[in-house]
Amino acid sequence: MGIRRLIQLPDRIWKGLHSQGLILLYHRVVTLDTDPQLLSVTPEHFAGHLEYISEHYNPISLSELYQALKAGKVPDKSVVITFDDGYADNLWNAKPLLEKYGIPATVFVTSSHVDSDREFWWDDLERLLLLSDQLPDQLELTVKGRKWNWDLSGDLGAESRRRYEIEPKSWNVTMASDPGPQHAVYRDLHRLLKPLSHEEQESILSTIAQWAGMPRTGRETHRPLNVSELKELDRGGLIEIGAHTATHTMLSMQPVGIQRTEIIRGKESLEEMLGHPVQNFSYPFGGRVDFNRKTVEIVKEAGITTACANYGLTLIGSTDPYRLPRVLVRGWDVEVFSSWMKDWFNE
Ligand SMILES: [Zn+2]
Repeated sequence: MGIRRLIQLPDRIWKGLHSQGLILLYHRVVTLDTDPQLLSVTPEHFAGHLEYISEHYNPISLSELYQALKAGKVPDKSVVITFDDGYADNLWNAKPLLEKYGIPATVFVTSSHVDSDREFWWDDLERLLLLSDQLPDQLELTVKGRKWNWDLSGDLGAESRRRYEIEPKSWNVTMASDPGPQHAVYRDLHRLLKPLSHEEQESILSTIAQWAGMPRTGRETHRPLNVSELKELDRGGLIEIGAHTATHTMLSMQPVGIQRTEIIRGKESLEEMLGHPVQNFSYPFGGRVDFNRKTVEIVKEAGITTACANYGLTLIGSTDPYRLPRVLVRGWDVEVFSSWMKDWFNE
């Protein structure tokens, strides 16, 4: 429901508050069998979103938004499209559709994942915990000096899964209950892994891979971009590449030195691969607790001009370019997407 419908104010006041722009946050354009974090939009639905945007809004690039913010005025009904993380499907599925509708976008890429045969840790956690059929009955891990135990006994396998109401494939983390005990372990480990350093995450994921009897090499469907794909995505001027740190660490949990290394290494590696400056950035995870004032200072010192967060607000002329709000788009069909957009613009 739109805020306008919740709060009754005269029209002239609403006009003054009228949101001028919105930055959309996508991750993946792909059809997946399972998507526990709700990161994907199918190509069909994405095409519907783009068609709707091109008919009803004013799509602009992040660089155009930066210029507009410098002038203190965001063009009316501006929509900026962004993608986080750097999945290969951004080139294969999203770019052709963005070109078809002539809509610019920025893709924020985690530099150390470019060319990697590993999945992002949240995808790996899904693959190893939810798709393995040979997890041991007892799982035990030490995380930051604290011991954790989980009991999966008697609850694995197709027969026991039938006892649960939710179909495991359609499960996602926003659901109130879980199809099986390994889904609860997935929730716990997602929470435990998020604030850790990349090295700590890797060590835990290797242990889980042993439990699961699965290799660390990732799925083709969950592959990050390789270098030639990154360059291809960057080619043509419609898509800008932005930085998203080196290893996708939760910056606020890291000491200042590591924050600086993550931000600068992420930006410089991409510049080396692309052969030109990278000036836009998005904070990994992007919530208010995921970065801090020091992070913003480092981002400014690194010569970055815009930095995107991940919390739902619209844009106005005085929006801080180093704390750009973005709204997370789910895999909605065009009907749901269009009414959601209208709510944001108080239409
Ligand atoms: Zn991310």
